[in-house]
Amino acid sequence: MMIYQRVPLAPLTTFRLGGEAEFFCEPCSKEELKEVLHLSRQNQWRVVILGGGSNILFADGLIRGLVVSMRAFQGIEEEGEWVWVGAGVSMETLNDWAIRRGRSGLEWSGGLPGTVGGATYMNARAYQHEMSEIVKAVRVVDFSGKEFLLTGEKIHYRYKYSLFMEHEDWVIVEIALGLGVASSEEIRQRTEACRKDRESKGQYAYPSAGCAFKNDYSRNLPAGKVIDEVGLKGFRIGGAEVYEKHANFIINKGGATAEDVIRLLEKIEEEVYTKTGVRLEREVKIVR
Ligand SMILES: Cc1cc2nc3c(=O)[nH]c(=O)nc-3n(C[C@H](O)[C@H](O)[C@H](O)COP(=O)(O)OP(=O)(O)OC[C@H]3O[C@@H](n4cnc5c(N)ncnc54)[C@H](O)[C@@H]3O)c2cc1C
Repeated sequence: MMIYQRVPLAPLTTFRLGGEAEFFCEPCSKEELKEVLHLSRQNQWRVVILGGGSNILFADGLIRGLVVSMRAFQGIEEEGEWVWVGAGVSMETLNDWAIRRGRSGLEWSGGLPGTVGGATYMNARAYQHEMSEIVKAVRVVDFSGKEFLLTGEKIHYRYKYSLFMEHEDWVIVEIALGLGVASSEEIRQRTEACRKDRESKGQYAYPSAGCAFKNDYSRNLPAGKVIDEVGLKGFRIGGAEVYEKHANFIINKGGATAEDVIRLLEKIEEEVYTKTGVRLEREVKIVR
């Protein structure tokens, strides 16, 4: 497996922002992954795991260490009621597969960017459903090369939280999903309805990483509503803008730098806190 140097990261993220990875690789198997993790330990490289890059913002300039893309972990296999999916399979590919095979339970993720590994890490959610409902088990390789299986309840899922967030040295390599059975046509219609709804809301019109902040459901405080109420819709720093159509989206309006986005995130946090006392919690992961 090749390890590349100075690889531009912007094309690998949906924000289309960020500098270069000092080192970069794309392992195709657990063996290759373990090999590269071993090399990183020997060289004392920091390791950053990258899925579809749809919830991550790399800073401008050089990103020290090794960025490991999981995109080559492909494969979808049925095993009774469970379906084993490689961490690098995109949600779009999985949705297309589910439609063809008549496997239901994923329709809510129609149009969700990113990989199944990233969604499992983030506990991605949409249309009142979330990954925790279907994740049955996760195969993990840790940075020391040890492999283990975590069952669903051990992941301690809650709103936009998983145990993986406490263990940055765990790599999700494969996920077992519990899916039902339905007619392909019904699944297609439901999946497509979600994707179309996102499209109609302008979610794909500009590069972004989706919602920048978590919603506070315990206090019924959607972050977008709070940001809108303090008058920040359309507010801009450099090429980064609070989206007119959805105040919880920061968009790259063209020519933005990662620094513009970071400064805009800070401005929103400060303004919201000063005016309302609410402390927003970031959803997008920043890697410097
Ligand atoms: C237009 C748009 C709409 C969106 N809508 C939604 C939405 O409705 N709901 C929602 O929840 N999110 C949404 N998002 C955010 C994003 O798509 C999801 O969070 C997605 O699940 C992230 O997956 P990813 O593969 O892109 O992860 P990445 O962005 O690559 O990574 C995110 C985090 O997961 C970690 N990670 C990724 N893969 C692995 C792995 N295999 N092992 C260990 N760690 C890993 C990374 O290190 C990083 O910390 C949206 C984004 C966009 C651009």
